[in-house]
Amino acid sequence: MPTRRALLISATALLAMSLAAPAIAQSDRPTPVVATFSILGDMVKRIGGEHIAVTTLVGPNGDAHVYQPTPADARAVSEATILVVNGLQFEGWLDRLIDASDFDGMRVVATEGIEPIAFDDGHDHGDNLDVHAEKTGHDHDHDERAEAAAHDHDDEHDDKAHAEAGRDHHDHGAFDPHAWQSLGNAVAYVDNITAALAQADPANAAEFYQNRAAYVAEIEALDAEVREIVAALPAERRIVVTSHDAFQYFGGEYGLTFIAPQGLSTESEASAKDVARLIQQIRERGIRAVFIENIGDARLLEQIANETGATIGGTLYPDALSGPDGPAPTYLDMMRHNAMTLAQTLAS
Ligand code: ZN
Repeated sequence: MPTRRALLISATALLAMSLAAPAIAQSDRPTPVVATFSILGDMVKRIGGEHIAVTTLVGPNGDAHVYQPTPADARAVSEATILVVNGLQFEGWLDRLIDASDFDGMRVVATEGIEPIAFDDGHDHGDNLDVHAEKTGHDHDHDERAEAAAHDHDDEHDDKAHAEAGRDHHDHGAFDPHAWQSLGNAVAYVDNITAALAQADPANAAEFYQNRAAYVAEIEALDAEVREIVAALPAERRIVVTSHDAFQYFGGEYGLTFIAPQGLSTESEASAKDVARLIQQIRERGIRAVFIENIGDARLLEQIANETGATIGGTLYPDALSGPDGPAPTYLDMMRHNAMTLAQTLAS
């Protein structure tokens, strides 16, 4: 039987608990994080776990190149403590969105610290992959590329200025933004995200770094796996046709050549000349399969397949995850799926 005294003590304890409760709830409240697209959203979830609440702006199978932010997006950004973006001008709509919000949190550029692939102004897609074209008369392009690469260091610290410069002209950045297509780069993404979460929520920093370590181990294991998968392919089969030019980091890292009728962004349509040149390349090189993408429109690739007799080798996930029931619900699933799909088709 509880004594009167014991009841008094427990009442005092309850009072103390209820007074302390708001503070506890405050520190346990998940940190609101906005990620611009599904791949970043998945990475943030892996690292932040239950301590973060992620809003992903461009969801599964969505095309971030041509995305139109909504008023709900602006509200989510206003409430976010951390905004995780890819950078390298992937999100051409980002500055407009931030202007439309009251965001005063931390902006994390996931690509910070990676070595970006420089590109020319987008009129020569495919040329740099054509051995003959490369040897004859494209010195000018190469100079520009080398020059851009030489300025990497300065430019990295100036992502905001890049984005600002690009905003009004609607043109592309000086670099290929699809850096997540290299698993090595993904480690840099993960490190940038982890550092930001730890800074915003120091009480849980140790857990974020533990999650990071486990995640990086998986990324590195998959990197080795993808290298093995590609190494098993005969050299002359390692050429891939996709819709838009999203796989230069993948190709550079793992030793495949990717060509695409569309440029680095899905925003610009392939010109008749680009399509004609691609069809010629497919015929000359005896390319037997083309790959469609989960984002955007497959019709151009289907037309190219019809005209050349190439088959559709499957669906690749360049810029977005699949839904939870699809083959690429996480970043790691996506990278594995792409490698396996390529290997199955190119090996046969
Ligand atoms: Zn893309």
